[in-house]
Amino acid sequence: MDFITSILNFFSSPVFKMAARLLILFLLILWASVIYWVYRDAEKRGAIGIYWAAVILFFNVFGLIVYFILRPPEYVADVQERELEIKMKEEMINSRKSCSGCRQPIELDFLVCPYCMKKLKKSCPVCNRPLNLNWTICPYCKASF
Ligand SMILES: [Zn+2]
Ligand SMILES: [Zn+2]
Repeated sequence: MDFITSILNFFSSPVFKMAARLLILFLLILWASVIYWVYRDAEKRGAIGIYWAAVILFFNVFGLIVYFILRPPEYVADVQERELEIKMKEEMINSRKSCSGCRQPIELDFLVCPYCMKKLKKSCPVCNRPLNLNWTICPYCKASF
C-alpha cells in the first residue's frame, strides 16, 4: 500500500498541482493563439473568420482538421493580384490589334492597313478622327453622315 500512497501523495503535492496548472495555462494560451490564427487566416482567405474561430472553439482539433480541409485554398490578396495581372495582359493583347485581312499588327487608329491596303476605318469628314466603317455618327464631334 505504501507505493499507492506515495503516488497519491505525489498527485496531491503542491509541486504537481502547480505543474498541472501551468500545463493547463500553457494549453489554454496555445489554444487561444490557434483560434486567433485561424480567425486571421480565414479572414485573409475571404472566409468568415468569426465562424471558423467558433468552430475551432467548440470542436477543437476536429474543427481544426475540418478547417484545413474546407478553407479556401488561396489568400484573397493573391487571387486579386492574379486577376489584375490577367486583366492587364488581356488589355495589352487587345490594344495591339491585328489587321483582319493579313493579321499584321496595326494601330487602333489606322485608316488603312499598311501591309495589305485593306480599308480599316474611315475618317470623320468634320474632325478627321478615325471611325469604324459602319458608324453613321462621329462619337467625337457628333457629326452624322
Ligand atoms: Zn492588312
Ligand atoms: Zn468627327
